[in-house]
Amino acid sequence: MFEKILIANRGEIALRVQRACRELGIKTVAVHSEADREAKYVQLADESVCIGPAPSGQSYLNIPAVISAAEVTDAEAIHPGYGFLSENADFAERVEQSGFVFIGPRAETIRLMGDKVSAKDAMRKAGVPCVPGSDGALPDDPEMIMREAKRIGYPVIIKAAGGGGGRGMRVVHTEAALLASVNMTKSEAQSAFGNPMVYMEKFLEQPRHIEIQVLADQHGNAVFLGERDCSMQRRHQKVLEEAPAPGISTRLRDKIGARCADACRRINYRGAGTFEFLYENDEFYFIEMNTRVQVEHPVTEMITGIDIVQEQIRIAAGEKLSFRQRDIEFKGHAIECRINAEDPYTFVPSPGRITTFHMPGGPGVRVDTHAYQNYMVPPHYDSMIGKLITYGNTREQAIAKMRIALSEMAVEGIKTNIALHRDLLADAAFHLGGTSIHYLEQKLGLSSK
Ligand code: ADP
Repeated sequence: MFEKILIANRGEIALRVQRACRELGIKTVAVHSEADREAKYVQLADESVCIGPAPSGQSYLNIPAVISAAEVTDAEAIHPGYGFLSENADFAERVEQSGFVFIGPRAETIRLMGDKVSAKDAMRKAGVPCVPGSDGALPDDPEMIMREAKRIGYPVIIKAAGGGGGRGMRVVHTEAALLASVNMTKSEAQSAFGNPMVYMEKFLEQPRHIEIQVLADQHGNAVFLGERDCSMQRRHQKVLEEAPAPGISTRLRDKIGARCADACRRINYRGAGTFEFLYENDEFYFIEMNTRVQVEHPVTEMITGIDIVQEQIRIAAGEKLSFRQRDIEFKGHAIECRINAEDPYTFVPSPGRITTFHMPGGPGVRVDTHAYQNYMVPPHYDSMIGKLITYGNTREQAIAKMRIALSEMAVEGIKTNIALHRDLLADAAFHLGGTSIHYLEQKLGLSSK
């Protein structure tokens, strides 16, 4: 096992990784920007290194600064968390070339999955069901593009191969709008992602977002840890997640989960990962793979009892998975509410000093946050200040615990989305379960669908 790990991230995930390391008896190095100097997790780490000024381009995304921090502190491995450099294949490569272990998949796997055209192609070959669409990038010939759209059937969605964060996509309802939309998406993709390649998919009208968590070691073993329902979204950003997904049968989950684990073995996957699917009419359609730990990983931890971050570290250290698929039991239900420093209804970020910070507790309540009373939420980064997770024997119990926890939670001095979560937990359609990815925006009056 490693003796010292550098955590190349900030906020709640930096603290989450630090806790996993401490439990495993591993020393930690926190890297931080000038804006995060006072953060508690920075002070709790065994060592800390300031890697630059507040803007992330000069600190958390600064590859040479992160690598020299590992060099001066003699860290053996680097955990990238999520966001920032976590899915940057060049970073993973530089880390390993500099003699450190990257806690994540091989650079070539990150690269394969980072390009959505090659990712879909690899998944199709591995037997994972994909959204029907163009097999590969769209050609330049207008005739061929029109023929392709007709074959797939309208509405279609044009997506950038290099896209991410919900950007670089355009829905097309009619042939008349097709060519202009393709060209617009191409030029946007070129300027936003430096890659003009686009592809076409059938646009699913009312899907749910359901994803499968996997773990794969370096000895050819891969397992799935069940699914999460992340359909409560606004502007393609997840707001509330749960596990298991309401209404999905064990048979269906086991079938798609086994496909994902099998795909991991085929592509020689290493570490934790998530296969994201759209789900409609009892069918799963792969859209992309995240080659890192995700914000919503705790709901899976709660229903499996497996610490995903510790497993990432063990896998990176070369250990074999200590359990097989049949050892994994799914028990109970977990819900996660992302707590953001933002206006609950306009989503405008609300950085500033937290004057009151009271967290809920009791059986089945987990709070993952780096914030505290008097903490200054910096304006430079993502607005998430923590996650509230509840666990119950049944979905109803997890919901009841979440309602109580949200009623106890008090954060003042900044605006938060706690009020939105309280509304959602009282929502009849949420109680029923199985709402589509458009539900939250419809409820908030943000969508015409
Ligand atoms: P990103 O990497 O930008 O998050 P994804 O491919 O994961 O891109 O898609 C993001 C979101 O866009 C999905 O969660 C879904 O809401 C919507 N979307 C993507 N593809 C389709 C599709 N074929 N049909 C309907 N909605 C889609």
